[in-house]
Amino acid sequence: MSERIPTVETFEPIHPKKVKAKSSDNLIHTRSFTGLFRTLRVGGAGLLFLAFFGTVWLNWGGRQAVLWDLAESKFHIFGATFWPQDFILLSALLIICAFGLFAITVFAGRVWCGYTCPQSSFTWLFMWCEKVTEGERNQRIKLQAAPWSLNKLARRSAKHTLWLGISVLTGLTFVGYFTPIRPLAAELLTWQMGGVSLFWVLFFTGATYINAGWLREAVCMHMCPYARFQSVMFDKDTLTISYDAARGEHRGPRKRDVQPAQVGLGDCIDCQLCVQVCPTGIDIRDGLQMECIGCAACIDACDSIMDKMGYARGLVSYTSEHQLQGGKTHLLRPRLIGYSAVLVVMIAALVVALIERPMVSLDVTKDRGMFRENSQGLIENIYSLKVINKTQQRQDYRLELVDAEGFQLQGKTQVSLAPGEIVDIPVSVALLADTPASSSQTIRFKVTDVDEPWIYTAADSRFVAPLNR
Ligand code: SF4
Ligand code: SF4
Repeated sequence: MSERIPTVETFEPIHPKKVKAKSSDNLIHTRSFTGLFRTLRVGGAGLLFLAFFGTVWLNWGGRQAVLWDLAESKFHIFGATFWPQDFILLSALLIICAFGLFAITVFAGRVWCGYTCPQSSFTWLFMWCEKVTEGERNQRIKLQAAPWSLNKLARRSAKHTLWLGISVLTGLTFVGYFTPIRPLAAELLTWQMGGVSLFWVLFFTGATYINAGWLREAVCMHMCPYARFQSVMFDKDTLTISYDAARGEHRGPRKRDVQPAQVGLGDCIDCQLCVQVCPTGIDIRDGLQMECIGCAACIDACDSIMDKMGYARGLVSYTSEHQLQGGKTHLLRPRLIGYSAVLVVMIAALVVALIERPMVSLDVTKDRGMFRENSQGLIENIYSLKVINKTQQRQDYRLELVDAEGFQLQGKTQVSLAPGEIVDIPVSVALLADTPASSSQTIRFKVTDVDEPWIYTAADSRFVAPLNR
């Protein structure tokens, strides 16, 4: 922190008053700071940025390692390929993520918002660009108020160039997870990008630039649904960022060598540093607020003041309502244990489902015609069998009917498929008896890997026939 901490000689009357977080231009100009939680956040966000911007460039087995191939309806993630039939697993993964978010919110409040949410992470990155190009908080406030000059134009241009550069890179990277990134980047550099790709790159460029550059805390306050309902998940043991009013009040300035108790003061020196670092412009001393994204910037700021004043850290800290009321925080409590247990079961079920996922897929479509009589005088129905080889190797498959006494599969009964190949195989099923047991019966088709017979799948369809011929 480059700005001086206000410690003054006189003691003022102590009446907590609302602090105006925004400057006269009605913008939030955050002050920079250092501290443990900032280090954690920068480290965590750095890893996430590295994963987001870096993974898209990795290759695996001659193709992009992570690619949602929209044209082919396949999702590649390193050695595994997922098909539309597997998207139930994706739904399960999203449900697990949502449930994990609930559990972590019960435990430690809005840590997702403060440390990992893309909106917060990109906003911090954009704020850093602002600091690099326009200077510290006071310089930015002055620049904002100053008339246009060459200096202001140069600084503003530099800031927006950096913002736009990051935004274009983000848009390109995001689209690169759906369209191979290397040709996409080459097309962008040579101005030859197709209309659809260009639209989406521009869309995500604009979304990043506007959300992280201009809207910032407004997204958290007015657009994010999670901000609206997260507080109902809190209980009295949830760790939230709070100001210890019993210790801090009465707040007010004092000399560094004065004992607060002797002059009727608490530990808060009313320096307002906690407000100046807050990205949403609120005063944590006013209590838990919907606008608080749990970034812990105010903890770092206040701890640095406590160090300078020689007071114990933790005037603003992660704490629970129980602890603030003089009790103890119960980290292990039934609700949290219940959430964690359900989460473990759901993750285990997903892992089993992934391991057991059939590597061959079969879809059966019955021909629209009801039935017909073949050249041998047998009633037959026509079907189309769609078989997908989901493995990364060529496979031979056997097609058959199972539990279908009195029926005969006619047509191809063996097929060889290349990795990822999809085929539609027309087949017919004939009824061997003269009279069917009923006018509509279930029949089951099965496809089995010839070399690895434990790899198989089955699908049902209907066989219709006239009761009277
Ligand atoms: S009050 Fe503190 S934790 Fe909440 S958003 Fe502001 S700085 Fe972050
Ligand atoms: S809570 Fe801490 S940072 Fe905020 S005004 Fe009081 S002493 Fe300063």
